[in-house]
Amino acid sequence: MHQATLKGSFSLDGVGVHKGKVCSVTVKPADKDTGIIFFRSDKGGSGFQNEKIVASYDNVENATMCTQISNENGASLKTIEHLMAALYGMKISNAIIEVQGEEIPILDGSSLRFVEQISRVGIKRQMRSRKILKVLKKVKVTDGEKFEEIEPFDGFEINAKCDFEAKGLKTDPVTFNFSKNNFVSKIAPARTFGFVSEAEYVKKHNLALGASLKNTVIYNDKGIPLNDDGLRFENESARHKVLDIIGDLALSQYWIQGRINCFCPSHKLNNILLRMLFASAENYEIL
Ligand SMILES: [Zn+2]
Repeated sequence: MHQATLKGSFSLDGVGVHKGKVCSVTVKPADKDTGIIFFRSDKGGSGFQNEKIVASYDNVENATMCTQISNENGASLKTIEHLMAALYGMKISNAIIEVQGEEIPILDGSSLRFVEQISRVGIKRQMRSRKILKVLKKVKVTDGEKFEEIEPFDGFEINAKCDFEAKGLKTDPVTFNFSKNNFVSKIAPARTFGFVSEAEYVKKHNLALGASLKNTVIYNDKGIPLNDDGLRFENESARHKVLDIIGDLALSQYWIQGRINCFCPSHKLNNILLRMLFASAENYEIL
């Protein structure tokens, strides 16, 4: 597998789902071996290097309801996961991403708009092979009944089950065998979601201030979406969990060779899983 970047740049703007403020993002091509690098370009005066945040699991500062990364100078960025999933899903390994604001715009709540823009500007193959993270030993992390594990597998597969029964939603497990086409058609359009019953908790934590029916599937107490246009897939919310896993696992900075099995995945567990995986050199090898 070769490294790849974009053939051109694109910009998107819109509200951030958690802070509710308008922000904008510009995704630009980058040289081979750059990886995915974010810059907070709105923090004037401090110079680019102070605003640089590498898209790496060990820069994750907070994983409550979204993935937030930060650097040692205090620059931080929220809700990077849907853009990270789009880049991984489209097999982009190198990009410079400039952000005006403290959050990536939520757009329609999925990875679709990013995928469309990447397709529009085109993908450039780079003459350097992409490093592969091959899982050698099963690693499992738990949080009460919730768990995530990653195990050796020839390819990249995610088996996710969620516990939405109590909320009236379908809980059929999702099995996702990674390919670019599968990602674009089955995962990228799945939108973020919330429940009317959680509105108070979310408000108390000062999150989801920008959430609306334009960017979030919101379910009532009976598990019925309040959005006029309904769902994009019957199990859209479970598919969105898979999208989040892809975006968070992309923070490994490698192409992943392994299988994830999980029950009630979360940004927090996604991050702990990577930290546990990298904690012992026996768990993996880099090819
Ligand atoms: Zn998400």
